[in-house]
Amino acid sequence: MKEMPDILWLEEIRKEDISAVGGKGASLGEMSAIGLPVPRAFVVTSHAFRQFLIESGLEKTLFPGFANLDVEDSEELEKAAKKAKDAVMKARVPASLKQKVREAYQHMESGRMVVAVRSSATAEDLPDASFAGQQETFLNIRGEKDLLLAMQKCWASLYGARAIYYRAKQGFDHQSVNIAVVIQQLVQSEKAGVMFTSHPVTGEPLSIIEGSWGLGESVVSGSVSPDKYVYDQRSEKVIDRLIANKRYQIISEKDHGTKTVEVPRDQQDVALLSDDEVRKLATFGKIAETHYGVPQDVEWGIVGENIYILQSRPITTIKSSASASPSRDTGTAKILLQGQGASPGIASGNVVVIRDVKDTGKVREGDILVTQMTNPDMVPAMRKVAAIVTDEGGLTCHAAIVSRELGTPAVVGTKTATQVLKTGQTVTVDGEKGFIYEGTIEIPREKAQAAASVAAPLITATSVKVNVSMPEAAARAAATGADGVGLLRIEHLILGLNKTPGWFIANNREEEFIQELYKGIKTVLDAFYGKSVWVRTLDAPTDEFRNMAGGEHEPIEHNPMLGWRGIRRDLQSPDQFRLQVETFKRLWEQGYDNLGIMFPMVSHPSEFIGAREMMRQWGVDVEKATLGVMIEIPSSAILIEDFIHAGIDFASFGTNDLIQYTLAIDRNNEHVAGMYQPKHPAVLALIDSAIQCCREHGVEVSICGQAGSEPPMVKWLVEHGITSVSANIDAIAKIRETVARTEQQIILENARSRNA
Ligand code: PEP
Ligand code: MG
Repeated sequence: MKEMPDILWLEEIRKEDISAVGGKGASLGEMSAIGLPVPRAFVVTSHAFRQFLIESGLEKTLFPGFANLDVEDSEELEKAAKKAKDAVMKARVPASLKQKVREAYQHMESGRMVVAVRSSATAEDLPDASFAGQQETFLNIRGEKDLLLAMQKCWASLYGARAIYYRAKQGFDHQSVNIAVVIQQLVQSEKAGVMFTSHPVTGEPLSIIEGSWGLGESVVSGSVSPDKYVYDQRSEKVIDRLIANKRYQIISEKDHGTKTVEVPRDQQDVALLSDDEVRKLATFGKIAETHYGVPQDVEWGIVGENIYILQSRPITTIKSSASASPSRDTGTAKILLQGQGASPGIASGNVVVIRDVKDTGKVREGDILVTQMTNPDMVPAMRKVAAIVTDEGGLTCHAAIVSRELGTPAVVGTKTATQVLKTGQTVTVDGEKGFIYEGTIEIPREKAQAAASVAAPLITATSVKVNVSMPEAAARAAATGADGVGLLRIEHLILGLNKTPGWFIANNREEEFIQELYKGIKTVLDAFYGKSVWVRTLDAPTDEFRNMAGGEHEPIEHNPMLGWRGIRRDLQSPDQFRLQVETFKRLWEQGYDNLGIMFPMVSHPSEFIGAREMMRQWGVDVEKATLGVMIEIPSSAILIEDFIHAGIDFASFGTNDLIQYTLAIDRNNEHVAGMYQPKHPAVLALIDSAIQCCREHGVEVSICGQAGSEPPMVKWLVEHGITSVSANIDAIAKIRETVARTEQQIILENARSRNA
């Protein structure tokens, strides 16, 4: 067999070279091969890294240190990581490799080109997807010396604490995981952004392009409100453009790194792209989509006249029923199972049954994840799959909420999926109707609300807002044109860290927690610039955090649903509450006046008053801040007038809980799912009286539970005077239509009765 070279230029790379260049390197090679204008790059292969380990002796000395490591002991983990990283940084890079890297770099503006140095980790049989984000990238590197240093730092980052922890949890052997390093021309974009080559929700042939001034990071991270252009590939015309006020941009620093600066005033409100640029970008997007066979999520940058395509990956939110394999229609297909359709969409793929979270490493891109019930620590796996099927749960369980937000079809509460379905079996999941079919079948896609979210939105007197749980969904949520965010759950924002809030406090790592929360909330605030965003304080039942670092200290409760969650826990755990308040304070200080705070699980006004007083003590100007409560315990609906006297600015029905606490029906228990009735007269009576009371006092009253995504319930709510509703991303179009229609009916009936 031919020996793998140490250096490969993009033009030499094919997608089969994944073990040499990692997923990132292979996909850049592929893009360059199909003629996309990818910035120039070469890759220092995993072979070069292996040689380095062997020649430096690290191959023998590095790995015994991990053998008996208890990764749950964070101090021990940090120590082992530091030792390993130091050893990699101190080791000598073979002179011959250094020479090869120097020679390659000489071909990039004679060794003066500014480059990005990116890690591209890979395991034998697995592309880098599951390692993404755990190794480092260094931007804005110039000169041989810094380049070699950045390369070595990438190698060292393979042994960062987070990477070690992840591999241990997923059962990967530290010794056999490899890393390649991509050295690529850093495009100093004057303008940059992202593009969906088809509509990310409906799949229509519309290219949706978002962009802003400076480097693309600002758009990708959601830290600016970008311009948005919609290009219709059928008419070959730009059919919609939304020019945002682009106040800030990220640019490269002279020496190293990047910085955020204000955009010159006269450029802030100018259209970023000409129609010609939109058309060219859309054409490149189409090339990528045609080549990969599925709609793509593309990162792009422009310098002068030159357009660069920086990355292209499948949009995971569109689940096309089109399939290369033979397909049947539903008429002849065998239904294997039925549950509740929890997240709309249709997808076919191979089943992977996961019985323990540590097995999620087995999940591949495009699989159908079948499990008893999902947990927060399964989210990385949930991101990859084409559909999700669970034994347990109802429409408001974790799996349902996360799937809707990821845009992944899901069927929950099948009772027996983990027994009936077998790993490797091909099935088709209909997340709307709740059926699991044998094999790959074709189901005609309903395009009922197809263009609604890009066409000019209907104006409704009742605000239609959107629920968000994951910052990565912020752009999709904003693209619906919703009037704000009626519920931002923050539980998921800290999931990436895989540690409980208590862990951060116990380990003096509070700032890290604040930063993570800050980043996530800010992404959503920026995406909804000028619109209100109600962030809910932490509300995680203790069992959901059990598998995370620190989870062992969570109390074991007989019924976590009725236990230590929501504001009652924060009031008793001031440290945990203080970290959240500190984050909000920083955001308010940054001028984010659109931020409002909502307290979950309140049962008495004293809890609202107590929480507000704590915020005041910690320096929040509580008279100015927008503070409200969830109504999700019957007592809070009954005592709503007292809450209003206590000074709430708004209230929002959390019907997921309100229904279960009114009817004594566990929302996650599939055996009683049929009795879980949003329109039970007792539930409606509580809601109605609370709405009337809020209206009398001029207090905004809303809904953010799942019932707010269901048209019949929303019709009833509008008829009874609710002032806003907040729905899931996938439901916005139909809810907006329901609200508009109901309002029109009310107007019509009033006119008729006047004339009668
Ligand atoms: C609710 O109870 O309706 C709600 C929105 O909160 P969660 O689903 O997070 O409990
Ligand atoms: Mg709730």
